[in-house]
Amino acid sequence: MRLVLIGPPGVGKGTQAKFLVDYFIIPQISTGDILRNHVRNNTTLGNEAQVYMRDGKLVPDIVILNMMKNRLAEDDCASGYILDGFPRTIPQAEGLDDLLNILGHQLDCVVMMNISDSLIINRLSNRRSCKECNQIFNLLYDPPQQAGKCNKCNGDLFLREDDIPDTIQRRLSIYHQQTEPVIEYYTKRDMAEIIDSKGTIKEIQAQIIERIEVYNS
Ligand SMILES: [Zn+2]
Repeated sequence: MRLVLIGPPGVGKGTQAKFLVDYFIIPQISTGDILRNHVRNNTTLGNEAQVYMRDGKLVPDIVILNMMKNRLAEDDCASGYILDGFPRTIPQAEGLDDLLNILGHQLDCVVMMNISDSLIINRLSNRRSCKECNQIFNLLYDPPQQAGKCNKCNGDLFLREDDIPDTIQRRLSIYHQQTEPVIEYYTKRDMAEIIDSKGTIKEIQAQIIERIEVYNS
């Protein structure tokens, strides 16, 4: 099973990716992880990436795609993989097509987790993080026992920069602008499965499995 999993920040993509890893016994491929590995191991591609990162620039798609080419050719990818949060843009989707052609791989389907902006903003802006141990609480679903204090270490809770409504809105705008065309790109090929992701984790899991099992041949 070769899957792409995309969705806006805060939709719960990481949780579903972990579930799919266990369900299909395939690795989760995240470009962030691959990039960090290359940089840590001082590979040629890692050094190339670092030139951009040092200047605070985005690592070009071609560098990322070359890293992915190596990663997807590894043994553990033989029976499939989940591409987590990649491709995010049309040029990346086109680059991925070329790369998969070279590898002789075919994507089975693209799972897009869909949710309204207002729900995302509501969820994330209710998150509170512990200053001491980084534990995350949610005032709506998982509130701390004592207001403003961490259950684990009694540290002070705070609202992270990433969870401030204005910041979330900005990230969502970028997502809509760049990634929605990617959905269209795959919809045209009958490969996109759009999953209503406002329910519980279990409900979303069930929906994803139901929709992608048909591709699992
Ligand atoms: Zn804590």
